[in-house]
Amino acid sequence: MEEVIEYIRYNNLGFLEENRSFKEITTLKVGGKIRLIYYPNSIENFLKFYNFYKKYTWPLLVIGNGSNILASDNEYYGVVVSFKKLSCLFYQINKSFYVFPQCKVSYFAKKIIPLGFCDIEYFAGIPGTIGGLVAMNAGCFGKEIGTYVKEIIALDKTGEIKIFTHDELDFSYRHSFIQDNLIVLVVKMEFPENSDIQKTIQNYQYLQNKRRIAQPINMISAGCAFANPKGYKAWEVIDKLGYRGKVWGGAKVSDKHCNFLVNCGGAKADDFYQLIASIKSDALKKMQIILKNELILINFQ
Ligand SMILES: Cc1cc2nc3c(=O)[nH]c(=O)nc-3n(C[C@H](O)[C@H](O)[C@H](O)COP(=O)(O)OP(=O)(O)OC[C@H]3O[C@@H](n4cnc5c(N)ncnc54)[C@H](O)[C@@H]3O)c2cc1C
Repeated sequence: MEEVIEYIRYNNLGFLEENRSFKEITTLKVGGKIRLIYYPNSIENFLKFYNFYKKYTWPLLVIGNGSNILASDNEYYGVVVSFKKLSCLFYQINKSFYVFPQCKVSYFAKKIIPLGFCDIEYFAGIPGTIGGLVAMNAGCFGKEIGTYVKEIIALDKTGEIKIFTHDELDFSYRHSFIQDNLIVLVVKMEFPENSDIQKTIQNYQYLQNKRRIAQPINMISAGCAFANPKGYKAWEVIDKLGYRGKVWGGAKVSDKHCNFLVNCGGAKADDFYQLIASIKSDALKKMQIILKNELILINFQ
């Protein structure tokens, strides 16, 4: 890893941090040390880094706001890449937006609603970046972000930059082709127009309020732990199994919304891991339901 650090420093490819942990960079606030966090100072320099790094067998994780991640307590011996120090967030050409991955969706919504665009208000309460939202095909209130993606510019595993159209990204429920295959560099998005800006703002406030009532948004979490299985809501399954309010070490099933697992303070990643395993095992044994993680698990064996 010393060679990688040297390469980044010598070529002035960006900023580095060596003594951080997932606890500090994820919303769930758990997880072990990270060997290296790399903040590229330009996309071009990130590409240089990538093409140098790909000869090593160490892992690489691109992180957005870390709001959907459960990382293990073990040290992550690899590089976590964050684009958050890139300054350009998005630009507009005619009715299309070209959004950089580190742009928070809440910021983007606040900028484009006053321009007369709508539907983005459905996503504005998600604490993630456009890169993370598009990779996860994040959704809420019956909408999915993939609907608004026209194309992306991304890096594939071989280190080649390509344009991927909406259809090539294979969006489905909390899934896209991006996961495990691509690094998103720019997202081209289009939204419907509504000249009644006040109406969009009212809808935004209504949705924020709905979220506040239904979700433990003031607690430490990573959103929904499980995807909804066919024909069920994951929270209903967890509730029926008797897990509402269940505490496991420092982790807890939220009383307010059973699909949110919250950190009561001082939780270990392993507390969450075991709680998840227990819920899944009971769902299968007692209800014959396979629950799949919505959380992205990092660095578990
Ligand atoms: C309080 C709360 C409420 C939430 N509500 C919702 C909700 O309503 N709907 C919903 O869908 N989710 C929700 N979430 C979960 C989470 O916010 C979303 O999944 C969000 O899209 C993750 O964005 P992020 O930037 O934090 O991504 P991260 O958590 O950092 O990363 C998630 C995944 O995306 C990948 N990724 C990130 N950036 C890139 C990139 N540039 N290129 C390729 N891959 C990338 C990561 O490698 C990882 O696999 C909620 C979470 C919290 C804490």
